[in-house]
Amino acid sequence: MALRVTPVPTLSDNYAYLISDTITRKAVAVDPAQPARMLAAAAAAGVTITEVWCTHRHPDHSAGNEALVAALARATGGAGTSAGVAVVASGVERDGVPVPGTTVSIRDGAAGRVAGTAIGWEAIHTPGHTDGHMCFVVRDVTVPAAAVDVDGLGADAPPVTVGEAGEAVVVVPALFSGDALFLGGCGRLFDGTPAEALTSLDRLVAALPPATAVYCGHEYTQTNLRFAAAVEPRSTAVAAAADRVRAVLGDAPWGDARRGTSVPGWMGVEVDVNPFLRVREPTVAAAVGKEGGDAATVMGALRRWKDRF
Ligand SMILES: [Zn+2]
Repeated sequence: MALRVTPVPTLSDNYAYLISDTITRKAVAVDPAQPARMLAAAAAAGVTITEVWCTHRHPDHSAGNEALVAALARATGGAGTSAGVAVVASGVERDGVPVPGTTVSIRDGAAGRVAGTAIGWEAIHTPGHTDGHMCFVVRDVTVPAAAVDVDGLGADAPPVTVGEAGEAVVVVPALFSGDALFLGGCGRLFDGTPAEALTSLDRLVAALPPATAVYCGHEYTQTNLRFAAAVEPRSTAVAAAADRVRAVLGDAPWGDARRGTSVPGWMGVEVDVNPFLRVREPTVAAAVGKEGGDAATVMGALRRWKDRF
């Protein structure tokens, strides 16, 4: 069994993802806003997309759901009819409006296994950015050790083993966090309150071990870490994360195959560097002038600062 994740750069700074079962050659597309890019990624990986997951209703995540299903149907001779490709998405988005193309509406705690694959998943409802935002957790994803800062996790680092091609890998849970949690930050609160976002982020931290690979919905990591450094200027963890991301991304432009990605990050690093996961730290409360304030108050002040940063 081997599950692999391919980030698919989409639009101007979005990440869609291909989750492939390398044994059965079936795959899930996550937030495929540009179907052509997702189909190219699947062809390159030698897999067939048999399911679509969508984290939330915003078009830069959901606009490709129906077109991708139609394209997959055409490819199998279905002439635009359903190819039996399920679109799994929130059933609790704002005012009950479904995410485009949804065929399987899910709520908090929904879980399943993608037919014909070893891709087992569960959903965590994370309101804040949107009312119905869902994060997806997949167990036992194989990540090349070179793609993640294994040493940066310190004592929480997962064991490094050998992959099918003889490369060094780690096998870890993966979080597809959409716009609820970014590396170094979180999404704007379009629908929800700071208290809701706090609860959502607290739940992610509580549910996932430090050695969880985090695949988020946008490449905002450098800007987010600049903000994190403004919040906690003395943090050596933030400085180290910023150094790593600068080295990993390189100079090639977005969409160029030579450009690196900051994803995946680690939950265990995020709790040390991401200010939105650190609202109970006195340094963070002081940075927003809310010393002694409750965590939701700090979250609100932090989010307002970031919105104009
Ligand atoms: Zn969004």
